[in-house]
Amino acid sequence: MILSCLLKSNFKRGIMDTTLFFIFLYGLISGSFFNVVGLRIPKKESIIHPPSHCPNCNNRLRVRDLVPVLSYIINRRKCRFCKQPISSIYPIMELITGALFASAYHFFGFTWETLMTILFISLLVIITVSDLAYRIIPDRIVFLFLGLFLVLRFFIHPNETYASHLIGMVLGFGIFLLIAIVSRGGMGGGDIKLMAVVGLFLGYPLLFVTILLSTFFGAFYGILLIVFKGAGRKAEIPFGPFIALASVVSVFYGYAMINWYWQTFYY
Ligand SMILES: [Zn+2]
Repeated sequence: MILSCLLKSNFKRGIMDTTLFFIFLYGLISGSFFNVVGLRIPKKESIIHPPSHCPNCNNRLRVRDLVPVLSYIINRRKCRFCKQPISSIYPIMELITGALFASAYHFFGFTWETLMTILFISLLVIITVSDLAYRIIPDRIVFLFLGLFLVLRFFIHPNETYASHLIGMVLGFGIFLLIAIVSRGGMGGGDIKLMAVVGLFLGYPLLFVTILLSTFFGAFYGILLIVFKGAGRKAEIPFGPFIALASVVSVFYGYAMINWYWQTFYY
């Protein structure tokens, strides 16, 4: 009896682990695609044509050059043809995407919310790549996901009402617009539109967590820059990656943080 229970639970966990592993692999491959999307969309290039090529020597990359992370290691971080070093941002974004997709499954299990979270992470990875490379958060990507979440959130909203998600969208847009006006352009138009999508996806309680965290991360990084690199106070840093990081933390730990806050300060 006990043995069969043990066997069953092990069997179940075995399925969980294999699924987790395949979702991680799927994330690696998706991450490699998001690199392409994030680098090409702001340049108004097609994401399919031309096929992947080395930006330095233009040699077309073969399948063996395009295996996420592995190609980067096997080719010793260089282009196989011209030996130009390849930026480590590619494998890093692939690994991050893999880890985050797997986390979504780990946290939310076999649910629609996992699928939603994977879509949300996709948006965040793409805009992080674009913002790091060009300081642009592409409108086309932001509006695509805005439309997608407006429809999908109507059907799938396990923790909040649909109204809470709509309020999050309006507040996200409004608060960042206000910050942009007060700081006289310290916040870009791309950040404001991105916050509308973030607020829509998360709903307004988690939106506030995200705003707090992103300003905290941004300020912390700014201080590090000033201290270690002697950057001026006005040094421009892209804010999109901080919004992305804060959003990810909110997705997984936002409600835990809100609960902790209430229990610590109000009981
Ligand atoms: Zn090359």
